[in-house]
Amino acid sequence: MTAYRSVTEAQQCILSHVSQMRPEAVALHDSLGRVLAEDVAANRNHPPYDVSAMDGYALRFADIAEATADTPVRLNVVDDIRAGQMPQVKVLSGRAARIMTGAPTPAGADTVIRVEDTEADGDDVLILVPPKQGANIRPLGENLRDGEVVLKQGTEISPGVLAILAMVKQKQVSVFARPTVAILSTGDELEGIDDPIDENKIPDANSHALYAQCRALGITPTLLGIAHDNPIELRAKLAQGLEYDVLLASGGVSVGHHDFVRPTLDALGITMHFWRVAMRPGHPLAFGTSKGGPSENGTAVFGLPGNPVSSMVCFEQFVGPALRAMSGYKNLFRRTITARLAHDLKDRAGRAHFVRAILQRDGDGYIASSTGTQGSGVLMSMAQAEGFIIVPAECESMQAGDKVVVQLLQGMDFQSEADL
Ligand code: AMP
Ligand code: MG
Repeated sequence: MTAYRSVTEAQQCILSHVSQMRPEAVALHDSLGRVLAEDVAANRNHPPYDVSAMDGYALRFADIAEATADTPVRLNVVDDIRAGQMPQVKVLSGRAARIMTGAPTPAGADTVIRVEDTEADGDDVLILVPPKQGANIRPLGENLRDGEVVLKQGTEISPGVLAILAMVKQKQVSVFARPTVAILSTGDELEGIDDPIDENKIPDANSHALYAQCRALGITPTLLGIAHDNPIELRAKLAQGLEYDVLLASGGVSVGHHDFVRPTLDALGITMHFWRVAMRPGHPLAFGTSKGGPSENGTAVFGLPGNPVSSMVCFEQFVGPALRAMSGYKNLFRRTITARLAHDLKDRAGRAHFVRAILQRDGDGYIASSTGTQGSGVLMSMAQAEGFIIVPAECESMQAGDKVVVQLLQGMDFQSEADL
């Protein structure tokens, strides 16, 4: 229980104790960015018949196979078909029908020629260049086939996916619910954002940083405020947090004399799975579950370090992937890129180090440099960071020019592997 977990072991442990939330129905427009909880089948063919892909003329290929600009083929135009209109006339040999993009191709015609490759001449049209046989016709069902599954459960709803949902008339979409999240800061020294300034206190940053990190993942958490380092108050606040799918408590999780979070969680019946991770910044990080975990309406509980930077780094490595797994996503981890180090990095071996970094383009790649002082209380360097340079646990020092993995902190780009 007191052994250090590697970052990867800790991630695997957490992910093995959370599962997908129940499905819920949301309005089509609210489904953007969510994950489909069921397969979606087409309820019609699209296009519903063969349609023209171009503005042009529908005709019989055999009539015009020999056409050239010098010896054009003359066809008599017998119909004018617009999108949404059914053709009235069969196209016989020597004839053509003017046709608009999306309009159904008439019986008898097997090919459409673009208007640009023709010349109108009274009631006739001159064909100057033969297209390929069958050209410019979108066959029935090319886009959607009635009854066929067009979107699989687990699909992330992008604007393109949402367009398909609209075409199959899904005004309500079944998506995985997002977990509810409660956030609690702990510490006698903390001052709430609405409290008057007291020079001897520390303004609570963690509640708000964690709030923002949840929001960046599409989840609006509930702030439970600040609990003092006092077992009775802490117990009441933590118990409140157990009403949620996920509880994020920061501070008071280490071995200090006033660190009551772990014993209080124990007393509340939470099973603690680990509380130390071999990383910097970040350890101590405690993780536990109530009653078999969130899959059975229990709660996943994260005891995050009090230092604001550590708390934020732990959120990105552990909490974010858990929230995304619960929300049904397959890609759980922040995207990584490779970059070259701008300068040497010294490090103690034994712990993975997440170095706050900025990136600069350099030819085909990137150069990564540290944002400066890496103290776990220095929020400024977190505010500037575009990503974390990941220094693996076994690595002691790195030189300028070395290739490194950088985890990107901004945007909604995620990947299936942590890449640690
Ligand atoms: P702890 O983990 O409780 O020992 O706290 C470690 C450090 O983080 C201490 O310097 C705390 O004052 C600071 N800290 C704890 N919680 C917060 C918070 N919510 N906002 C800002 N700093 C905090
Ligand atoms: Mg504390």
